[in-house]
Amino acid sequence: TQAPVNVTVTGAAGQIGYALLFRIASGQLLGQDVPVKLRLLEIPQAVKAAEGTAMELDDGAFPLLSGIDIFDDPKQAFEGANIALLVGARPRSKGMERGDLLEANGGIFKPQGEAINAGAADDIKVLVVGNPANTNALIAKSHAPDVPADRFTAMTRLDHNRALAQLSKKLGVPVTELKKLAIWGNHSATQYPSVQHAEVGGKAVEVDQAWLESDFIPTVAKRGAAIIEARGLSSAASAASAAIDHVYTWVNGTPAGDWTSAGVVSDGSYGVAEGIISSFPVTAKDGKYEIVQGLEIDDFSRARIDASVAELVEERDTVQKLGLI
Ligand code: NDP
Repeated sequence: TQAPVNVTVTGAAGQIGYALLFRIASGQLLGQDVPVKLRLLEIPQAVKAAEGTAMELDDGAFPLLSGIDIFDDPKQAFEGANIALLVGARPRSKGMERGDLLEANGGIFKPQGEAINAGAADDIKVLVVGNPANTNALIAKSHAPDVPADRFTAMTRLDHNRALAQLSKKLGVPVTELKKLAIWGNHSATQYPSVQHAEVGGKAVEVDQAWLESDFIPTVAKRGAAIIEARGLSSAASAASAAIDHVYTWVNGTPAGDWTSAGVVSDGSYGVAEGIISSFPVTAKDGKYEIVQGLEIDDFSRARIDASVAELVEERDTVQKLGLI
């Protein structure tokens, strides 16, 4: 039988962690034949709550869950990690400027990047969920010089899934009929969910531009706020579900003739500044995400991509000035 895969989860006692850990323990992250060992990281004040979640995980008697360890020290938590899900982050509080938020997160993602560099397994794959996810991933990556840069990714799969759901409703077809949607840019309100190359039942999707601009794009980009408004709490289970999808696809690949979306290190494709972590349409094969190349970009898409990338460049410049990268 296979040795267990070490999965490190930060912010394990939070809302997303609560939904995510049960999905991992049930085998949905890596597959029904892969045992997993959980390594949970929390800040000292939240360790007790993480212990409570671990008790519930024990009580699930999951056949694939071969152990749970809880840490408040990143060095220990990332020791031997094969997969790292960085969920814990500093939430934006009232009156906090963007720079303050980036600085507070630098204090979290810098030591985590260092710990991954020092102790993670050679095949480490990192997904950053905690916001601002793209730039947090950039900070972690820049403190892990010995880890290949392409092992650092940020989550835009939730945006991708939200886009699939909206288009499926609009066209009255199941999500399985839809292919080649893409999220470009930052996981923020500037993101660009694109249907330019989308297909329904193998044919180009045709929707009117007014619906795209005044309904589809804002609905996808502002879905988080709409869920807070309705639920009184931010989305958590859907974020956990997208994190599961992101890693499952990374490890097991995308189906032929389709792609997905992920925040990956830009190689300069499509004029996206090299080195930043931006969302692109990506395929996955042999455990690697690759940017889909050679797509024609129309003027509308061009302007939207440029705007979101400009925001990412600004975030990069801010963390550079703060000495975080
Ligand atoms: P959640 O579990 O709800 O969210 C965690 C992070 O995920 C936030 O940064 C949140 O961003 C982000 N996120 C990304 N996509 C989504 C989405 N679609 N919907 C909602 N959130 C999204 O936060 P909690 O406050 O419940 O839990 C955070 C936990 O992290 C706490 O237990 C805290 O102690 C821990 N923590 C751990 C750290 C560590 O391990 N070193 C460091 C810091 C915190 P946004 O804020 O924008 O919603």
